[in-house]
Amino acid sequence: MSNEITVSESKAGFLSPVVSVKDALMAYQAKKDLIDGIMHKDVDYGVIPGTNKPTLLKAGAEKATSFFGLSTRFEDAGIVEDWTGEAHGGEPFFYYRRTCSLFRGDLFIASADGSCNSWEKKYRYRSSSRTCPTCGKETIIKGKAEYGGGWLCFSKKGGCGAKFDEDDTSITGQPTGSVKNEDIADIVNTILKMADKRALVAATLIATGMSEYFTQDMEDYVTGEVVTVHAEKVAMTYLQAIEFKSPKGLRFGDMDRVKLQYVIDHGSSDQVEAAKIVMEQDYNVEIVEESAPQS
Ligand SMILES: [Zn+2]
Repeated sequence: MSNEITVSESKAGFLSPVVSVKDALMAYQAKKDLIDGIMHKDVDYGVIPGTNKPTLLKAGAEKATSFFGLSTRFEDAGIVEDWTGEAHGGEPFFYYRRTCSLFRGDLFIASADGSCNSWEKKYRYRSSSRTCPTCGKETIIKGKAEYGGGWLCFSKKGGCGAKFDEDDTSITGQPTGSVKNEDIADIVNTILKMADKRALVAATLIATGMSEYFTQDMEDYVTGEVVTVHAEKVAMTYLQAIEFKSPKGLRFGDMDRVKLQYVIDHGSSDQVEAAKIVMEQDYNVEIVEESAPQS
């Protein structure tokens, strides 16, 4: 790209700086002022337990772009919209990959991709609690043994107070835990917005050099430049990947993270590929290629 800063190599092993030390220190101080003075924890950035770097959130990225005088431009970089699921085993599938480019005036500064798809765990499934057959609310709890056991529609959670026997199939017959989200079409716009958000955060980190302070949003792991999986590839191969089997006959789709990691470390190239896809899709684990930019 023509507007990118170019560096020249004067001698092998020595890269000339393009800015003076003074300018670099001023830029460093500006970033520090921005972060210390304007950014607020839990609004502009968050700290996820177990991580050592805070993650930059959308509000923080917007503050940073405005602080540095950057304007944003979003473009489609890949779309899969399968409303009926005809190409995805009957299950609707939506995938958006977006490019966020940052400009100062007409000068291109940086760009990055972000993607999101409806098979990410948090969109594909919803957690289901037992529903009260009387009032229809998800307020059923296990009754305490000292109060007679059974099931109770808990009034403190907004329920009606109805009681049910221990073995009442109208309660015990209900699916609980993770169930498929049947209303995926309702959140298509959310998925698109999430792709934009990931692209914006990634581009902002690149443009401002703030990746030494912040990382990407860990929960909303960014595909973008760092992840190998291509739009159509996600769509085509997830279903195949989960049907791979170990020598003992265990489906990849039924494996836990430890087993998948074992396959990634020891499997044949096909198995590794499949295990990575299952790992990424089912466990939101980002598989970074060796060519990924280091931050
Ligand atoms: Zn009730």
